[in-house]
Amino acid sequence: MSDNRAAVAVEKAVSSNDLGAAVGKRDRLTAVKGMNDILPPDSARWEWFEAHVRDVMGAYAYRNIRTPIVEHTALFVKGTGETTDIVEKEMYSFVDRLNGEQLTLRPENTPGVVRAAIEHNLTYDGGKRLFYMGPMFRHERPQRGRYRQFYQLGAEALGFSGPELDVELMLMVAQLFGRVGLKDVRVELNSLGVLAERLRHRAALVEYFTRHADALDADSQRRLQTNPLRILDTKNPALQDLVQGAPQLLGFLGETSLKHFDQVKKLLSACGVVWRVNPRLVRGLDYYSHTVFEFITDQLGAQGTLCGGGRYDGLFEMLGARPTPAVGWGMGIERVLELIQVQAEALSPPVPDAYAVIAEEDALSMAMPLLQALRQAGVSVQMNAGSDAGMASMKSQFKKADASGARFALVFGGDELASGTVTIKSLRGGSGAQVSRALSDVAQWASTLQSTS
Ligand code: ATP
Ligand code: MG
Repeated sequence: MSDNRAAVAVEKAVSSNDLGAAVGKRDRLTAVKGMNDILPPDSARWEWFEAHVRDVMGAYAYRNIRTPIVEHTALFVKGTGETTDIVEKEMYSFVDRLNGEQLTLRPENTPGVVRAAIEHNLTYDGGKRLFYMGPMFRHERPQRGRYRQFYQLGAEALGFSGPELDVELMLMVAQLFGRVGLKDVRVELNSLGVLAERLRHRAALVEYFTRHADALDADSQRRLQTNPLRILDTKNPALQDLVQGAPQLLGFLGETSLKHFDQVKKLLSACGVVWRVNPRLVRGLDYYSHTVFEFITDQLGAQGTLCGGGRYDGLFEMLGARPTPAVGWGMGIERVLELIQVQAEALSPPVPDAYAVIAEEDALSMAMPLLQALRQAGVSVQMNAGSDAGMASMKSQFKKADASGARFALVFGGDELASGTVTIKSLRGGSGAQVSRALSDVAQWASTLQSTS
């Protein structure tokens, strides 16, 4: 189908809500561009990472929060910011064709967490420390370390204003990276102060960039009107010199903001974290104030930011609640895993304790309840799978039992059934030794099957 005809088909599908047209234009069903399947054995690396995450979160007393993947579009327009890249061009937004609601697949989760905190009045009895893990969606150009569905780990501390929380959150990241063996990650810091300070800096910025308006690209020209701070965040190499020479926000901070920032730097150093102030670090999102930070590697090119975060004391108010200080970060899990050279196979070989060999279909009604009892007792068992034509030959089943890596074969055959027993045959390190056990006292012998490793 030509591009033009495809475009017409899409338009037709969208305008008429005609789902049939959406089917017609695809002859082969594949994953959506920029969205990845995570398959075994690679998924074992994800589980391994997630286990470390739960450990570290527990060590800092952060608790898990799970919010919906779909939120009202207004949440991100207000919470992430109308003039951010995310809201301007990266969101998967759609109208629910059944009730007309404007919805968006979450591009980040801080607004969702804050929305939930407000909705359930989570901070009524004091601050809350929370973390989440899950998929986020951004319509970006897919490349290494940049996908359209990607996974973020995030931590948020709601209702705490002290600089020690900013530091606690950064220490968590450092500890997690240490545990999973990530090296050569640098920490960059800046302070965005408070609104009055940012407004004075903004006036100076507008004055500076207006003087150099000729040198700005179209994007920056537009931002000069909407959100000049964001020009400092530009990725255009041609603008780097101009941006280097711009007035720095740090020069506009008052005594209270400087004190907060100094305490952050002092405590980080006391805890052995090496940091560097980057006066041009502004982060892409509108809601930050005071401390902002990034954990960066040089090994992923332009996708080097592994984790970014900071304080967002104004976000609760922006979403219509009473002012509540907060600080947090988000981490790209794909980028972190890309750097970790652990072989999935080495992590957790998926080997069952036992493999059930089942001679004939008639044996299933006795075998399956026994296998249930074994699993209940903590034994992992892989059952041979037959077909409508019945069970495969014993020879072929024993081959599969060997290939599974299990230490034992449980043999449910005609003789065994007649006598109410199962034969346990050793598949590893022995001479095929076998014993017979009664089905009725499985609790007595289940533990002998469990691998000790
Ligand atoms: P970048 O500058 O790389 O676009 P960002 O500032 O948009 O990052 P945040 O919104 O702060 O990113 O998200 C936190 C982290 O999530 C990033 O530091 C990165 O590790 C990860 N991340 C962001 N966008 C993507 C993506 N499209 N694919 C994979 N990971 C991503
Ligand atoms: Mg981005």
